[in-house]
Amino acid sequence: MSFTDLLLAAPLLRALSEEGYTAPTPIQSKSIPHALEGRDLLGCAQTGTGKTAAFALPILHRLLAATPNTGNRNGAQPRRTPRALILSPTRELAGQIGDSFAAYGRHTALRHAVVYGGVSQHHQVRALERGVDVLVATPGRLMDLMQQRLVDLRSVEVFVLDEADRMLDMGFIDPVRRIGAAVPANRQTLLFSATMPREVAALADSLLRNPVKVAAQPIASAAPLIEQSVHHVPRASKSALLESLLRSDSIERALVFTKTKHGADKLSTKLTRSGVPAEAIHGNKAQNRRLRVLADFRSGRVRVLVATDLAARGLDVDGITHVFNFDLPHEPEAYVHRIGRTGRAGATGIAVAFCDPEERGLLRSIERLTGSTVPVAALPEGFEHAAAAIEKAAPEARNGAKGSTKDRKGANAGSRRRTASANGTSSARSWSSSGKGSGRGGRRGGGRRSTGRAVR
Ligand code: AMP
Repeated sequence: MSFTDLLLAAPLLRALSEEGYTAPTPIQSKSIPHALEGRDLLGCAQTGTGKTAAFALPILHRLLAATPNTGNRNGAQPRRTPRALILSPTRELAGQIGDSFAAYGRHTALRHAVVYGGVSQHHQVRALERGVDVLVATPGRLMDLMQQRLVDLRSVEVFVLDEADRMLDMGFIDPVRRIGAAVPANRQTLLFSATMPREVAALADSLLRNPVKVAAQPIASAAPLIEQSVHHVPRASKSALLESLLRSDSIERALVFTKTKHGADKLSTKLTRSGVPAEAIHGNKAQNRRLRVLADFRSGRVRVLVATDLAARGLDVDGITHVFNFDLPHEPEAYVHRIGRTGRAGATGIAVAFCDPEERGLLRSIERLTGSTVPVAALPEGFEHAAAAIEKAAPEARNGAKGSTKDRKGANAGSRRRTASANGTSSARSWSSSGKGSGRGGRRGGGRRSTGRAVR
């Protein structure tokens, strides 16, 4: 199937071709025809599957069909109130969704705005006053604006909830319900979620009407092109191990996950001091600084980024070659999300986990969820002491933790393996490898803007 088969409007096809997309991803070819028909959609797909375009393209097509391509910058026509509303759990994801609308809508006169908390509302309110067709919002800031009567949702025709599971995890159930009640009942609703726990299914039941169900990947499967491995290592040796691994030239762009914000700061400082420059990103950093660090990571100025789950949620940076789970996450689903930051768009990614003896239960939960064992990798030379400590603490973890240097190298190489998802690696490869054109990286590189602007 090609994008032309989906009968999308010409300005959108032009933008897609400039982005370097040659074929729709599985979630796009499954969702777009139904969305264009006006059906409600329940999509099970995580970031990295192309889900943003799966809802952005039909929305733009719909708005384009009913909007003369004239623009409205002089106030000659009545003010535009949002006709599409997209809710996102985090400001980073909201910014990325905004960027996607800007990219796919660049040859249209449609306008969008992104509103989220943590920054002054002034520019966001100005953008709404100027008029927008598409509003991307985090629930908290949108509720604030609604309470102040600064946003008018009466014209919303399409309502999208992105990453619904995360939205509920973050405690947004109440705002989401209230916002759902504030948009017209005869709208089209599209709900996307990486996982489908009972709470999300219940929310979907209350918001969607006879939805078409689409899935891009089995919920609990890891991304198909990611080579995973785990090092059993005492907690005290983790940072030295990371530092040693990061010295390898094959690591072009690495994302490191820690459990806490404090841990992220401490680790990035320690790495930098030991000669491996790193930056940290998490919710305690000022928004401007987060955006700057992200832009530097995208451009390659920063090679190692240490992050917490929340900060990295929805982070879409091309070319992350390695993801390190410095601390294993408490929720096994987070592991799948984390490693999904690499191996994007058909590139092969490497996910390395560090597991100290106390985290072995967490590793088992991850393996239960994904239905596969994460291969154990040997500790590199110089870590004999750590390997011995591990063997003492958890003898079953010794696979790969001992042996001659030669054996260890072999164990390392052989222990990484690809996980294949049940719905086929080949389809994931074909769309993404063909789509890896020069245009893709470019549109993500521009940094975020918190205010609305004309799409083109
Ligand atoms: P998403 O899951 O929406 O965050 O998208 C993941 C990445 O895939 C983004 O970098 C998109 O630019 C890219 N992408 C989306 N659709 C396509 C496509 N049809 N072909 C190639 N790349 C795509």
